[in-house]
Amino acid sequence: IEKLKEKYGAANAAPVTAVQKKVTPIRETDFADWPEYQQVTAIENFFGEDNPYCAPREGTIGKTVTIDGEAFDSFCSYNYLGLNGSSQVKTAVIETLERHGSSASASRVAGGECAIHRQLEEALADHLGTEDAIVTVGGYIANMATIRFLMGEYDLIVFDEYCHNSLVEGCATSKARRMQFRHNDLDHLDRLLSKQREQHRRVLVVVESVYSMDGDIVDLEKLVAIKNRHNAYLMVDEAHSIGVLGETGRGLCEHAGMEATDVDIIMGTLSKSLASCGGFIAGSRALTGLLRYIAPGFLLYSAGVPPTSCAASLAVLETLKTDNSRVQRLQANTQAFRDIARDLELDTGLADATPIVPIMLGGAGDSVEKMAWVTRELYRNRVHVVGITYPVVPRGEARLRFFLTSEHNENQYRRALEITRQVIQRSQEVHA
Ligand code: PMP
Repeated sequence: IEKLKEKYGAANAAPVTAVQKKVTPIRETDFADWPEYQQVTAIENFFGEDNPYCAPREGTIGKTVTIDGEAFDSFCSYNYLGLNGSSQVKTAVIETLERHGSSASASRVAGGECAIHRQLEEALADHLGTEDAIVTVGGYIANMATIRFLMGEYDLIVFDEYCHNSLVEGCATSKARRMQFRHNDLDHLDRLLSKQREQHRRVLVVVESVYSMDGDIVDLEKLVAIKNRHNAYLMVDEAHSIGVLGETGRGLCEHAGMEATDVDIIMGTLSKSLASCGGFIAGSRALTGLLRYIAPGFLLYSAGVPPTSCAASLAVLETLKTDNSRVQRLQANTQAFRDIARDLELDTGLADATPIVPIMLGGAGDSVEKMAWVTRELYRNRVHVVGITYPVVPRGEARLRFFLTSEHNENQYRRALEITRQVIQRSQEVHA
């Protein structure tokens, strides 16, 4: 209770009394002390009607977006390869819609599988170089369900402190012991494993290939050596690296010159470069077999991914088989963007060669209102990028998070970065 009081204030920490139990409806005031609630309220109050968060948009989002009928340069999408809405994806989706309708309408175990479910899984395994893959309705559930299912009592999970919420929740709901290591500090991981390995049955190390708030890349070669030395399993969330890293977009292993078999569990999502919605796990047939027939959240207790969603990602994978030009353009854009940002003396934090580039706000983001002010000025200049602050990122590390695509052009992001620099400077004058 004392810890709860510290975090959320007395009102939310108090145990539910018999009297309170009778008053069942949820009131906003029940959550008023939560930092998340306060942040959302501050942002809503700041923007009023014209709020760039959850803006009413039309059409697809990629290098541009249409909001309230006006065109913006957008840096807010995961459409890394610009293939959402492309002719090859549209044709595949329409054909599949006519054949199977818009929903799987059952779990694959009960209602049967469409051929396209397995075709997609085989294409994912082929793209990544694993024995097999298994898809589910979202990347979030793929992470949660896999970690929770595989790791139990007597086991240990060691995860990077910046891991995505879906990984953290998977760790939190598993019965295994959990420990964090400092972000991308593999020596810290090594030391933790040296101390802890012997006391546990199975050990799982969980990381992301590309960290979604910072755009930095894990050192896979070093990581694999560590996990082999300590006889641990390795799970890598490749949400932001498939279709992005490596000569042909095969992801982290291709980027690092390693084999897919060096990683025990590769997780990915269909919602980013693969132009769709859904998640997957790739690895050995033994792994996918366990997830397929026993783990809740894949084929059991959850509906199959809509066949149309499978068709969209399959079309992207087909394209990537013979054409890596978009991957190459994306990589050129990410390099040029970071170079320009650094020339303009903007702080790109930990950003590495990835399409996620934070621009750290420093003093221009030391309150929610200041961060919102920067976001609004950019929005008024038709630059669509949003600020992120605590609790999504650590305190004092508010940032604008830019996402690039293969379709952006240099004029577009040079303009956006120049405006960003001016806005950050002006914020200092306005808020002095
Ligand atoms: N992992 C990471 C690193 C992510 O960034 C995300 C989503 N942004 C997910 C998992 C969840 O994927 P999905 O959107 O498919 O649920």
